[in-house]
Amino acid sequence: MKLLEDRIRKDGIVLGEDVLKVDSFLNHQVDPDLMMEMGKTFYEQFKNEKITKILTVESSGIAPAFATAAQFHVPLVFARKHKSLTLKDDMYTATVYSFTKQTSNTIAIAKKFLTSDDRVLIVDDFLANGQAVQGLTDIIKDAGATTVGAGIVIEKTFQKGRKMFDDQGVRVVSLARIAAFKNGQVVFADEQDA
Ligand code: 5GP
Repeated sequence: MKLLEDRIRKDGIVLGEDVLKVDSFLNHQVDPDLMMEMGKTFYEQFKNEKITKILTVESSGIAPAFATAAQFHVPLVFARKHKSLTLKDDMYTATVYSFTKQTSNTIAIAKKFLTSDDRVLIVDDFLANGQAVQGLTDIIKDAGATTVGAGIVIEKTFQKGRKMFDDQGVRVVSLARIAAFKNGQVVFADEQDA
């Protein structure tokens, strides 16, 4: 998505070797017009899949997931993060290791919001090592629901996540694919291929 790549070039800040800060349009301040364009793009990609629910993890996934849910006219459910959670019967839970924070969180979704009839599209802000998306697919499986695919705003192709889901046969659509960070600059996968 050219609009997004241009915005990353303009406002993204590379931190160290493998983290991109995008807090001026996605992770802190949010650009609603850009979110709506992302939602439309995910809708075009998955519109024939009879999606019944959009799932994400709080908090950074909520803006693009909401924009996508608005296109599909289906509910958005965001998993809540807990430092520790005494297991509750009415929740599906999974443990997710956070790449950026380097801590583990339990993510939880109320059972009443996910049923075996659901055909789910996962939407998240970043795909790095795939832990967040894996936690959500585990929860979807527990519920007996179907993971149709994952819509990712920014994928870092040099980390493990993409291969993990290709191997599992989960369709991943990413709006921007970053192949590397070089001298503090972003190299997109399509530039590298060119
Ligand atoms: P994963 O679970 O795929 O390893 O990492 C995905 C999660 O970590 C995302 O939901 C996002 O919150 C965070 N994350 C991973 N890489 C980055 C990054 O480069 N920048 C930012 N801002 N967040 C990231």
